[in-house]
Amino acid sequence: MNLILFGPPAAGKGTQAKRLVDGRGMVQLSTGDMLREAVASQSALGKRVEGVMQRGELVSDEIVIALIEERLPKAESAGGAIFDGFPRTVAQAQALDAMLAGRGAKIDLVVRLKVDDTALVQRVAGRFAESGRADDNPESFKVRLAAYNSQTAPLLPYYTGQGKLVEVDGMGAIEAVAEAIDGALEDHKG
Ligand code: AMP
Repeated sequence: MNLILFGPPAAGKGTQAKRLVDGRGMVQLSTGDMLREAVASQSALGKRVEGVMQRGELVSDEIVIALIEERLPKAESAGGAIFDGFPRTVAQAQALDAMLAGRGAKIDLVVRLKVDDTALVQRVAGRFAESGRADDNPESFKVRLAAYNSQTAPLLPYYTGQGKLVEVDGMGAIEAVAEAIDGALEDHKG
């Protein structure tokens, strides 16, 4: 099963993806985590993307598509992937569909975590204070939200058109959101 956890930055995608990995043995594919690792190790890729990420802008489709492509075989042998923070543009979504189709696979379900903007801004302020993550500062977060609204939100009609989108209330406590996601997965299995 291949699942996309979809939502704005700080919606809780990473937290929920990690829980699903623990519970189901699937592989989490977070392009944000991969890029942060590259920055931390100061690899050529890391140096290339550092500024873009710090400003809160999206890195190029080409870079993230390649990162995902590299990891698909391992995810497949694990029984599926939870895509977290990818795709973020229609071009990425189309590339993902094509890469999976080439392997005889597909996206089964897209779970949208719905969280309102005010709650996101509050959450991220707390996270910034705790983790000091560079792009959680208020200026960069504004840019990240704007990137979500202009470049990522158009994926909602894309996946609705494919009949794959389910919506989950992402405003509650972590456990409540987790239960709602489990419910959506059960419904999908029918
Ligand atoms: P995230 O941890 O998913 O919020 O990602 C952190 C940052 O990494 C984003 O603000 C972007 O700069 C970059 N990034 C992560 N995933 C993608 C993606 N799929 N497309 C473009 N940029 C990405």
